[in-house]
Amino acid sequence: MRYTSTRSRSVSVSFETAICTGYASDGGLYVPESIPSITADALCKWSNLSYPNLAFAILRLFIAKDEITDEELRSICASAMQAFDDPDQAIPVVEVGTTMYVAELFRGPTFCFKDLGMRVLIGLLSHFTSEGSGKNMTLLVSTTGDTGPAAVQAVADVNNPRLSLLVHYPMGQISDFQRRQLTTVTSDRVKVVAYQGGGDDMDLPIKRILSSAPDDKVWTGVNSYNIGRPLMQLVHYVWTYLRVVEREAAKRGAACDYTQEVAFVIPTGAMGNIAGGYMAKQMGLPIRKLVAAVNANDASHRVIQHGELRKLPMIKTLSEAMNVQIPYNLERLLFYCTGQDHALIASWMKQVDSSDCLDLSSWLDRLQEDFASATASDEQVCAAISSALATHQYCIDPHTAVGWCAAEQLGYYTTAAEAESSSASLGCPAVLLATASPCKFQNAYATALGPDGWTAYTASPQYPAGARRILEGEELPPAIYKAESTLEASQRAWEVYARDLIRELEQP
Ligand SMILES: *Cc1c(COP(=O)(O)O)cnc(C)c1O
Repeated sequence: MRYTSTRSRSVSVSFETAICTGYASDGGLYVPESIPSITADALCKWSNLSYPNLAFAILRLFIAKDEITDEELRSICASAMQAFDDPDQAIPVVEVGTTMYVAELFRGPTFCFKDLGMRVLIGLLSHFTSEGSGKNMTLLVSTTGDTGPAAVQAVADVNNPRLSLLVHYPMGQISDFQRRQLTTVTSDRVKVVAYQGGGDDMDLPIKRILSSAPDDKVWTGVNSYNIGRPLMQLVHYVWTYLRVVEREAAKRGAACDYTQEVAFVIPTGAMGNIAGGYMAKQMGLPIRKLVAAVNANDASHRVIQHGELRKLPMIKTLSEAMNVQIPYNLERLLFYCTGQDHALIASWMKQVDSSDCLDLSSWLDRLQEDFASATASDEQVCAAISSALATHQYCIDPHTAVGWCAAEQLGYYTTAAEAESSSASLGCPAVLLATASPCKFQNAYATALGPDGWTAYTASPQYPAGARRILEGEELPPAIYKAESTLEASQRAWEVYARDLIRELEQP
């Protein structure tokens, strides 16, 4: 399988080049040249596989054997899942109420769904920089949330002397728990930096550095514009689908029906997760609708409801990992939605780059065939956290809570009483993707339930044991990039500083 750009069919690169460069040379995002199909028979066969073996079976369809052998790919998938609570059954699918399932995507080492895509991607990058490849690779990340911890842990775990990570976070603007996840990992392959600036101020220096890599160096980003992330993220849709179909069959006392449709509700920010789901749907996985659940930063909701993309000022919310102004994976969604029309995507993205807006109203019907959406305020999020606990003794984090609200608004989640009087039922099972554990978000959780609510949670069996280890670990102080008189001056100075640190990391 080769990879092409959303913006031009003439781009054709290997899988290795696609994941090692991040963006395509024309500024577009990499996508596979063709989409393999999933049949009901294949789903039936896959239903017996462990998570690592399912990941292998699916990734095998997207990566040529002359790039990675079966044995190597199997081993990468197995190692990536090893740090999960239960590697073979990595994602528990639980039932809440009578009409909705919750897939717990957060049972990895950093308590967030990003472990699922990140750990395999970093395993693959490590494979391409293995001994004898003659290559050194440095990964660059700026994080305001969960991407950084997932990347730090994954790089520390692969422990490859030729693979390093430089990770940045805005000082004072991530949760204490997230900071500790960055600063308590001891690995000489990882360098952590706090910069005196806001959310995405480090993005521009990083972009400049990545676009200037010398020929003998591989520098790349591992945010979800990197195709390795959505590719691996389509696996959890297949896994979750299989588990839901099994439960439904058991309830009816019938055989599994692998043509049964299932709706997915996805707490959404940059649309990397939902892009994985859309690729699974393109392959033929019977997905009724992909529901984008967003907070007050509702760009993707506006696209799906009104066909209007516009960059609006960032709003602070309790679900910070979803505070996204322009969801960059929308480009991949539109690519598939238009039947892979490279030229149209190129002209649309040119318009977005120059004006930060785009009129998609003539595509609205097409978009709404595949997608639905809803938005939730912080008040609604707090009410959902509270009601999940009161009704089901189930603790949810603020991001999952946004999805919970969306499921309620769209009629996917109903109480037993409502289900009995059943106009509310939509005739297809729905599953909410739970993207993080509440253990990462003390502030939001306590805002919803008070300090006693938090204390009760930390004493409950739902509080992960690994979270305690992070709170007790010793912090190594990060490097600091100081602010200069203007943002522009800061960004220039930080770029120089970052290049120095990359040089240090690359010393053998
Ligand atoms: C990153 C993140 C999201 C959003 O995922 P996207 O792929 O950016 O849409 C949702 N919830 C949590 C907890 C996250 O860390």
